[in-house]
Amino acid sequence: MFERVALVHYHEIGLKGRNRASFENRLRLNLDSACAGLTTARTERISSRLLVPVTDGSRADALLERIAGLPGISSVADALVTARDLGEIESAALQLLVEAPEGPFAVDARRSNTDFPVSSHEMNVEVGRFLVERTGRRVDLSHPAATVWIEVVQGSAYVYSRRLQAAGGLPVGTAGKVMALLSAGIDSPVAAWRTMKRGAVVVAVHFSGQPFTGDLSARLAGEIGHVLERHEGLGRLYVVPFGELQREISLTSPPGLRVLLYRRLMLRVAEELGVREGAHALVTGESLGQVASQTLENIAAVDRAATMPVLRPLVGMDKNEIIAEARRLGTFEISSQSHEDCCTLFMPRMPVTRAKVADVDEAEDALDLRRMVAEALEVSTHEDFRCPAYRPPRGGGSAAA
Ligand code: ATP
Ligand code: MG
Repeated sequence: MFERVALVHYHEIGLKGRNRASFENRLRLNLDSACAGLTTARTERISSRLLVPVTDGSRADALLERIAGLPGISSVADALVTARDLGEIESAALQLLVEAPEGPFAVDARRSNTDFPVSSHEMNVEVGRFLVERTGRRVDLSHPAATVWIEVVQGSAYVYSRRLQAAGGLPVGTAGKVMALLSAGIDSPVAAWRTMKRGAVVVAVHFSGQPFTGDLSARLAGEIGHVLERHEGLGRLYVVPFGELQREISLTSPPGLRVLLYRRLMLRVAEELGVREGAHALVTGESLGQVASQTLENIAAVDRAATMPVLRPLVGMDKNEIIAEARRLGTFEISSQSHEDCCTLFMPRMPVTRAKVADVDEAEDALDLRRMVAEALEVSTHEDFRCPAYRPPRGGGSAAA
């Protein structure tokens, strides 16, 4: 019986020099958190790879999938550990090939130390010949039905035939914090995921239409939060009941500009929360021209309400591309449930599609913005998620939900 491990590979890009150790440590902490409950062992580091011992074979698939969802990982393999001994490597390879899909196979060996006396090519030939003899299967290097990979490193060898492509990107916690505006719609969860994948800790804020709507949109945002949590990258979700403030805007402002004024107030509230959280940017799910409020003119008019950079990771994506990504992420089903959020409240019949900045500025002058932002923060609640890289703001922020 060989020991079984999840063998984790990560990209080396950007890993040179001083960043490397902190990148690996971060990834290791994220892995420990993600794997808790699926294995009882801690993550270990071996030459340019991390490994998570599989202590419960019945949960191995869940473990591999969980790992594959973590930003910063390029692939994860279901591997057997052997000594640096050709006989052991062959017997592990045989065990794996017997369980692998039928048909021709290939062997793909690598050694990271040249102190192992057998070259990669020789290993391919030797192990291949052994497997042909024992199984009667043939070798096909261009179209194999199964591949047996062998990695010989310092101290041991890893043999596997099953490898999951992972999320790629950078480990959460290596790129600072962002404040994401999270509706319960299709786009913004994908936008939040994309910044998380590039190493940012995400703190989210959802604006509900309460008290003029129920709390369904807030609950859906919470469900989306639990999907994002699987990637160890969502620290906290704030929920701001926004209905009263929208009503106030709708009573005093030109109808055509209302939507933009709601949006600007959302950005101001998000930015204030972001400052408290120590975030360095805001994130939205806007995509150029997707809907009337997302013309370049309207984006520009809303953008001015923020002093932090507003990241729009989806700006160049088509709706069908976003939907495909939302399906892979696992948020599409949740986002597709019909719900009222603040976007459906107090909507004008004819929203302006190409707003002039001066008009929006002028309409906003009539509002007591400072008080409105303070009121929004006052009524906000929050829920924390499992995210090892997240540090809550000093003083704790608003009331917990
Ligand atoms: P989404 O699918 O993300 O809701 P959308 O296509 O509905 O986007 P808009 O309604 O114009 O587009 O919203 C643009 C962006 O503004 C959203 O992607 C999100 O980042 C933010 N936003 C909109 N509504 C809310 C809300 N209720 N709470 C938090 N953020 C919101
Ligand atoms: Mg929406």
